[in-house]
Amino acid sequence: MLMHEVLIVGGGLAGLMAAYTVSGKADTAVVSKIYPTRSHSGAAQGGFNSAINEEDSIDDHVFDTVKGSDYLGDQDAIEVLCSDGPEVIFELDRMGVPWTRTDSGKVAQRSLGGAGFPRTCFAADFSGHVVLHTLYEQILKLGVKIYPEWHVLELLAEEGRVVGAVVYDMQHARLEVLRAKQVIIATGGYGRAFRKTTNAHANTGDGMAMAYRAGAILSDMEFVQFHPTTLYGTNILISEAARGEGGYLRNTSGDRFMNHYAPEKLELAPRDVVSRAIFKEIKEGRGFENHYVHLDLTHLGEAHVAERLPQVRDLAIRYAGVDPVSAPMPIEPAQHYSMGGIRTDVWCRTTVPGLMAAGEAANVSVHGANRLGGNSLLETVVFGRRAGRKALEMVREEPWHVLSNRVLDDALGRWNGLIAGKGRKASQDDNAFAIRQEMTSVMTNQVGVFRVGSELEDAVRSLGKLKERYGSLWPTGQARPFDYGLMDYLEVGYLLDLAEIIARGALARTESRGAHFRLDYPKRDDKSWLHHTFVHLTATGPEFSEGPVSITRYQPQERGY
Ligand SMILES: Cc1cc2nc3c(=O)[nH]c(=O)nc-3n(C[C@H](O)[C@H](O)[C@H](O)COP(=O)(O)OP(=O)(O)OC[C@H]3O[C@@H](n4cnc5c(N)ncnc54)[C@H](O)[C@@H]3O)c2cc1C
Repeated sequence: MLMHEVLIVGGGLAGLMAAYTVSGKADTAVVSKIYPTRSHSGAAQGGFNSAINEEDSIDDHVFDTVKGSDYLGDQDAIEVLCSDGPEVIFELDRMGVPWTRTDSGKVAQRSLGGAGFPRTCFAADFSGHVVLHTLYEQILKLGVKIYPEWHVLELLAEEGRVVGAVVYDMQHARLEVLRAKQVIIATGGYGRAFRKTTNAHANTGDGMAMAYRAGAILSDMEFVQFHPTTLYGTNILISEAARGEGGYLRNTSGDRFMNHYAPEKLELAPRDVVSRAIFKEIKEGRGFENHYVHLDLTHLGEAHVAERLPQVRDLAIRYAGVDPVSAPMPIEPAQHYSMGGIRTDVWCRTTVPGLMAAGEAANVSVHGANRLGGNSLLETVVFGRRAGRKALEMVREEPWHVLSNRVLDDALGRWNGLIAGKGRKASQDDNAFAIRQEMTSVMTNQVGVFRVGSELEDAVRSLGKLKERYGSLWPTGQARPFDYGLMDYLEVGYLLDLAEIIARGALARTESRGAHFRLDYPKRDDKSWLHHTFVHLTATGPEFSEGPVSITRYQPQERGY
């Protein structure tokens, strides 16, 4: 058995920032199912929002975020996000992050959607990549213990408190037990629950599902962000930075159609507004081949694109065969971000003692019903740092809690049995891959940008049947190094739990707010629905309840852009 005071599950930006904060002060380990520098955070292009310019203000950042959230974001948490922002950006600067600079040497900023000021700090369009690598170098230097390619399977809880985790070491094909005083979940989002998504293959919501199974509350799971501009066909993200740098959206007539949907902000309206506009254009026959619209950068000039958007250009050439300097890119909306997650307070504590969460896996509710571009990377580093600070305080005060042989033997017995194929039928006429395909199609087709009651009911039924089928499956492999068949099997299980909660939450919420748009209830309904959705696991399945929204300075108003 391995012991660490703080165990961080996830090697993306939230996990590494937490590790950086704790390292040297408490015994810390990071466990990550993929090598940390391959974490999904490395794909982020646009950048980190922060009010670092003297002409901008933290109050304006707070207001834009509250409005962007369609008034479902918790204003106390948003204040923390925006107020801590500048300090963390400069902390990263001192660590050596090569931010893009202005001519006078200051950290440069660009515009992303829904912001009243160009407040996104960036490093060309490799923003996530460079910060991930900088943080990784720092934690190596500080001697944090890293367990790469170790997949956490289950949180170990004793008397309602999380005291460690069962982990699968993929290289050696063996189970390990990691004990900890505090476990921080930083496992990112569940994008792979959808067929059309910008997310990496590893984004299967493991941490959310494990926390839910261990008794934690998940919140606001029905709010799923769809990004307006992904390459048609592959759904590779074309960063909002492309519109931030001046790109136009055009339909088959060449019309810059955002004029009709958001006359002031145009292409830089928030993502929910732009995604719906694109779908409407396509639905009403103004899309190319009835499937996509164009994102046009041709007027920006080669030098500007090469300096500010080199990755966007490269992706479009490689994956769509289009050089955006000379031709428009074909784009369509796709799932992009998990707004819901493990409910935490502003110090990243969940409802289960010993368990914390940060980053996309968490729901401290800074994004509410709709996240603004650039606020998520900021969330990872601001709340990763806070998780580290609070964990440190707690492990200093706490003794090691008991893990009994009964709990340990039960968990190891179950996992060893599953991996060894104990109970396996002679043959199976079903498999996890087929279930995954059906689940992701249901989620994309029936729980997407536009939702309607009858389709959501059907989705809930279909997902229930898929869960039943999954219940009688066993993993395909037999304890081999890097047995991705086993990982796939486990990941489908996590995703099914979350997909069911997303669809049920969407069916229950009979209003339209932010990214959750109901064709049968097209208006926001503050009287009945200005509250969070909480869900926890009971013996009979998920149980839903309401949670209050923290409203401090800004009363809800109608959104307009
Ligand atoms: C293409 C793309 C571009 C984006 N661009 C921007 C942007 O410009 N600005 C912005 O603000 N936001 C952006 N976002 C969102 C942002 O990048 C993510 O929300 C953020 O990086 C999530 O970071 P994280 O640390 O929470 O999780 P991740 O970076 O996803 O890391 C998750 C970690 O958890 C580990 N893990 C998962 N399950 C397990 C398990 N069972 N056992 C062990 N380890 C596990 C993984 O190995 C990984 O290390 C973008 C998102 C996408 C998809």
